Amino acid sequence: MKAIKVLQDALKFKTISYSDYESIDYGEFTRFLNFLEESFPLVHNKMEVTRIEDYNLLLKLKGQKEDLLPYLFIAHYDVVPATDDGWPYPAFSGALEEDKVWGRGAIDDKGSLISLMVAMEQLLEEGFESNRDIYFAFGFDEEVGGEKGAARMAAYLKERGIYFDSILDEGGAVSSGDALGIDSDVAVVGFAEKGNTSLRFTFTGDEGHSSAPPKETSISKMAAFIRNVQASPRPSRLTPEVEAMLKNISDYKSGAEKLVLKNPSRYFFILKKILEKNKQTASMIRTTVAFTMCEGGTAHNVLPRTASCVANVRMLPGDKFEDIVAYFSSFGHDYCMEILNREEGSGGSSDRTRFYLSLKSSINKFYPETLVTPYLVSGGTDSRHYEELTSNIYRFLPYRLSADELATMHGRGEYLSVENYKRMIEFYKEVLKQEKANV
Ligand SMILES: [Zn+2]
Repeated sequence: MKAIKVLQDALKFKTISYSDYESIDYGEFTRFLNFLEESFPLVHNKMEVTRIEDYNLLLKLKGQKEDLLPYLFIAHYDVVPATDDGWPYPAFSGALEEDKVWGRGAIDDKGSLISLMVAMEQLLEEGFESNRDIYFAFGFDEEVGGEKGAARMAAYLKERGIYFDSILDEGGAVSSGDALGIDSDVAVVGFAEKGNTSLRFTFTGDEGHSSAPPKETSISKMAAFIRNVQASPRPSRLTPEVEAMLKNISDYKSGAEKLVLKNPSRYFFILKKILEKNKQTASMIRTTVAFTMCEGGTAHNVLPRTASCVANVRMLPGDKFEDIVAYFSSFGHDYCMEILNREEGSGGSSDRTRFYLSLKSSINKFYPETLVTPYLVSGGTDSRHYEELTSNIYRFLPYRLSADELATMHGRGEYLSVENYKRMIEFYKEVLKQEKANV
């Protein structure tokens, strides 16, 4: 098996997911799974293969010891759409140019999926046997929410009473420490992720001719509500993973800055003023509200009966849905509320598990002089669907991405450098080998 060729070929499949599931070209998905079967014969031979709802792939390597809880590695093979516009090489070409493999999905998330498969195939070639059961779960609709992918696989596992010691999914990576104001590289491992809730608020007013308007209209009521919400954001709060991250950064600082960062909860009254100033850091310490859509009116001279707006709420772990509903109603406005999406944050992974320690030592091995730290993921990953199946989810992919590379994710010109790819394969082998059975 030629590792680079496999990744190139994997990127040629147009496994694009759409929230309208009927628009999906399922043939590409089936062909992709068949391609995996042909490319990784040992994995398919030695691991128990289950296709769930046709397009999700669940693999299990039976371990030697029954009493150990299994590990689960998650990846997804669907991608967001791409045209060739603005790409140096076509988006679904898998071109190998400039020591990079080009194509939609290279870094999100086929690169990881293929690296995991190559790692396992190579280990099995060497006669690898594992202490505990090891599962791979590959979903086909992560980019549109994972409802028919990760959610169904999680339900399948739960029905069978399968729980995990730890789960590894995408989320964090290694990057320059610039954004955190430190010189060395930083490997951020997501210990928690924010929730993603969207609510529509509809306001009602008198309809009629705009030449004789009442004091308040549906639109002015909506505007007042938006303004009040914007003026009183949710209070800032320190979550355990952000606290751990700030403490870790303190090792790279000196003087007063070091003192404050070393004791984030004691000095939070100072820290929060600094963190709130920057929109990125502010989002780490509070549940944010963004009004993303609004609607009302059909003609320039008619008062619309209703006006509505949508708030997208990114919830800190610990904030409950009811808290958010109460927060909006505390402003005392009269509206009808509709739930478009409801997902609370999740988190609480431990930094003491054997899995995390082995993850950390592998990061130290492949990325020496790099700060390894827990952090809070602001986007959503498939792993949230598995929350009931484990206490420990770690969100991290073992590649080092520059800011430019990061921008190609869901953007133009996505690629995985050969250097990153080779390192990912070795990294996964290293993590898996820690489970090698003494037989
Ligand atoms: Zn992804």
